Amino acid sequence: MPELAPYAVSNTNSRGRRVPEPPPAGRSEFQRDRDRIIHSTAFRRLEYKTQVFVNHEGDLFRTRLTHSLEVAQIARAIARTLHLNEDLAEAVSLAHDLGHTPFGHAGQDALNECMQGYGGFEHNLQSLRTVDLLEERYAAFDGLNLCFETREGIVKHCSPENARTLGDLGERFLAGRQPSLEAQICNLADEIAYNNHDIDDGLRSGLITLTQLDEVALFARHVAEVRRSHPGLAGRRLIHETIRRMINALVSDLVATTAARIAARNPGTLDEARESPPLVAFSDEFQAAQREMKRFLRRNLYQHHQVLRMTSKARRIIADLFSAFISDPRLLPPAYQTALEAAQPRAVADYIAGMTDRYAMKEHRRLFAVGEI
Ligand code: MG
Repeated sequence: MPELAPYAVSNTNSRGRRVPEPPPAGRSEFQRDRDRIIHSTAFRRLEYKTQVFVNHEGDLFRTRLTHSLEVAQIARAIARTLHLNEDLAEAVSLAHDLGHTPFGHAGQDALNECMQGYGGFEHNLQSLRTVDLLEERYAAFDGLNLCFETREGIVKHCSPENARTLGDLGERFLAGRQPSLEAQICNLADEIAYNNHDIDDGLRSGLITLTQLDEVALFARHVAEVRRSHPGLAGRRLIHETIRRMINALVSDLVATTAARIAARNPGTLDEARESPPLVAFSDEFQAAQREMKRFLRRNLYQHHQVLRMTSKARRIIADLFSAFISDPRLLPPAYQTALEAAQPRAVADYIAGMTDRYAMKEHRRLFAVGEI
């Protein structure tokens, strides 16, 4: 690994693990975190969780797993270039969506509605709950016992009310401090990844078209560039050549803007970076371009009637499962029934959030379709 900047997270300035452990041999603390995440059950389930398209709609669409791998690729490249901790960026990226419900954002919204009055449901906090509590793999502790900085990166945002329940991890939300620069990178790498792969998947599905994308300045500029340098190129290659240029442009802008902001602020330590205003950022021009892409995707893809038909079905499945389990907890698997009486709605939420798309559909059929057991 190239030499780390003084404001990067490192093995030596890390605030460590909740349960102290001897240092790993032959790998860094954050490589160990990454390895624990990869071996977790929640990580394997990401393969069967929706990003935008439900898993069974096609083999070529992104899932939460391939999305997380793309985020990790982008975050690592940015971290490495800026002499920040690439291993931490990778660990946070791979873990950032572990708490996602089945059926993407529709599932999370539905579960959040069900959990009103019981503390709500928020996928960032559920990702933290997964790595802190729900994974059952080690003899000495619940969860994966990850380093503070990995856990800090997983909790992207949080209400003051929830922050007060998070101990040292919640302090920054109450004090208005930033997370590490590595965590800030993962946050924006997530945006770069999903904007670009949703355009790719949207085109592949036929729900959006190249002509429509002419209204998105960043896309129009790069597709024109590809057509100029490769006249006659069409179909998948034209799309891929355009998207890889957009990712490259966004990453280059982010690296240049961030390097300039770091140089201007000149933090001497990790804590000084946390005290600074957000240092990882796009230029104003690219920030506006990202916003335009998001607006386009919301209007034309996420709110496309075919996607809405799927999301409305997903909401009903989640709401049905929740009310069935709440009204009769004996329907839950025994492991979840043993959860404390008082925490029962939370145990139901944990069970539902852990489901893959197809498991949720199967469980729904088992509970509601006459003739299925
Ligand atoms: Mg994500």
